[in-house]
Amino acid sequence: MIPFNKPFLTGKETTYIEEAVASGKISGNGIFTQKCQNFFEETYGIKKALLTTSCTDALEMCALLLNIKEGDEVIMPSYTFVSTANAFVLRGAKIVFADSKLDHPNIDETKIESLITFKTKAIVVVHYAGCACDMDAILSIANKHNIFVIEDAAQAIDSYYKDRALGSIGHLATFSFHETKNIISGEGGLLAINDEQFIERSEIIWEKGTNRSAFFRGEINKYGWVDIGSSFLPSEIIAAFLWAQLENITEIQEQRISIWSQYESELKTLAEKKQFRLPITPKYSTNNAHMFYILCNTNEERTKLISFLKEKGVHAVFHYLSLHKSEYFKLKHDGRKLYMTEEYSNRLLRLPLYYKLTSEEIIYISQQISAFYEH
Ligand SMILES: *Cc1c(COP(=O)(O)O)cnc(C)c1O
Repeated sequence: MIPFNKPFLTGKETTYIEEAVASGKISGNGIFTQKCQNFFEETYGIKKALLTTSCTDALEMCALLLNIKEGDEVIMPSYTFVSTANAFVLRGAKIVFADSKLDHPNIDETKIESLITFKTKAIVVVHYAGCACDMDAILSIANKHNIFVIEDAAQAIDSYYKDRALGSIGHLATFSFHETKNIISGEGGLLAINDEQFIERSEIIWEKGTNRSAFFRGEINKYGWVDIGSSFLPSEIIAAFLWAQLENITEIQEQRISIWSQYESELKTLAEKKQFRLPITPKYSTNNAHMFYILCNTNEERTKLISFLKEKGVHAVFHYLSLHKSEYFKLKHDGRKLYMTEEYSNRLLRLPLYYKLTSEEIIYISQQISAFYEH
């Protein structure tokens, strides 16, 4: 069986974990945490980076930093992971879902402005499959109405909008190092703070509402409880693992991009003939090869293709069920039909993509897809 995902190890993970353990400092915010955070700040032009235990946690920190409270409204796509919405729901926000684009699962920037009210606090964009949302258009709407932009860049490491790294553009942004992402630490995440007004408070929220970070830097001579917060920082053991991955990001990305490109060239002609769609990367975005998906013609076609591939030993999977139709949210939704969101929920199929996927396996998978469409 060719699995959907296989976590890739560079080989240095356990070496660095041993180093962390031997150093005697294994709680958070030590040397490996610093290395990882500096990497994000220096490589991607992020003002301040903080490691978190997950992207979900980083999103929850965003909601705390923006002081989201009962009745505030937050606009985001419905075609996303639950955490994008849940982080704000936990603070009492009302989620207002926007539809996806015609040619991409990303939020349709032309559908945002009509959803803004005097209660709107933020727009959360999700760079689906590591492909950039139209950030100039979104920032100009946000600036006009004086609201914040958060990038859920969980899938978007090492990807760019024009010449700016994803995660460095919104006021705040979040990354994930879950084992299904390009760069992993089992569970893990990062909060990127690009608007300086949030830097000081972000460290306090990160450290259980205390000013311990400033204390460790020697800026104050005792630390205590100064704000609300929680335990959002991972241990050095996680950071050590993550550092072994970040050190090899160039090689990891090259390999993934080459796999992605091979899929595209294997499937291009068939897709044109059978009218299923391959991913479209807009001119303003790079492709970080987080995911290779196809868009089947119908839901029924997708269901049949999944079971056909399964019989042939290939594990292909569908993706998000629209959040506005979820069991938790359906009665809270305002009833607007989100046509494209539902299309992606019904028709999008993800193919196996991981570092160790071989060229022969890609050819085999593509041949099976071809065999399916030929009968
Ligand atoms: C993976 C993912 C998350 C959640 O990341 P965790 O690190 O598992 O919390 C959130 N949003 C999107 C878009 C994701 O793909």
